Amino acid sequence: MSSIFYINGNLVPAEQAVVPALDRGFLFGDGVYEVIAVIDGLLLEFERHAARLARSLAEVGIRNPLPRDALLERCRELVRRNGLREGSVYVQVTRGADNKRDFAFPADVEPTVMMYTSEKSLRVNPLAESGVRVASVPDMRWQRRDIKSVSLIAQVLAKQAAQASGAFEAMMVDADGVVTEGASSSVLLVDGQGRIVVRPLSREILPGCTRAAVLALAGRRGVAVEERKFTLDECRQASELVLTSALHFVLPVIELDGRPVGTGRPGQVCRELRQLYMEYALATAL
Ligand code: PLP
Repeated sequence: MSSIFYINGNLVPAEQAVVPALDRGFLFGDGVYEVIAVIDGLLLEFERHAARLARSLAEVGIRNPLPRDALLERCRELVRRNGLREGSVYVQVTRGADNKRDFAFPADVEPTVMMYTSEKSLRVNPLAESGVRVASVPDMRWQRRDIKSVSLIAQVLAKQAAQASGAFEAMMVDADGVVTEGASSSVLLVDGQGRIVVRPLSREILPGCTRAAVLALAGRRGVAVEERKFTLDECRQASELVLTSALHFVLPVIELDGRPVGTGRPGQVCRELRQLYMEYALATAL
């Protein structure tokens, strides 16, 4: 059965899910997006994703066509129509299509909204058991990484370089040797005292929804959380390295640039954080 897409107010089969060639998302990467996990047909971390979508749109001056309630309704409808039990909903909003190729915002253009679902096993993830390898790469992105922009070419190149070297994820590092984040994940470090170290939120990283939830859960558990920048060298000495993202939740890193991290096996802190996060995310799913 063909999957159903949502395009500008219409539910259509995948083959008919098209946007105009002059859409500014296609021409300029002039748009933003969100990815929301689905388990048992329910949306995980919906409030954080809805808030971040609204913020990304506001930061780039695109009218929000999907305020919270409309987004929830559309997501639920799409999940139901696709019979999705476990996987994700993708939401993309661009500034819209205009027949003049001006960089500046066109007048009177309607945002383009595109949404679709994908099936994926999330609860059971072999990577959570095996752990993952990461490779460090230079962070070549722009200076507003807090906006979840569809302009993802730097992350595409980062992930490709990492995967070509046999790693699962790229860990992006700035010119000072300071870690920013993964190509599609936030990075947490666990130091020798069991403290979690994370880079503070700023324009330099995406405010990860999973990162926020995991830090709140860790704090409630009495785990010390230190918000400061950390270097690639510190990662090499870390007791554990952890990746967080909407679809992988919490993953242990076992190798960095071909060398073991900590014991070289998934760590205990990561295991507990994954467990806590999954319980919380399922209990709060909408
Ligand atoms: N950082 C970047 C650059 C990302 O692309 C992502 C997710 O795709 C994340 C962090 C993790 O964010 P979230 O937990 O909201 O999925």
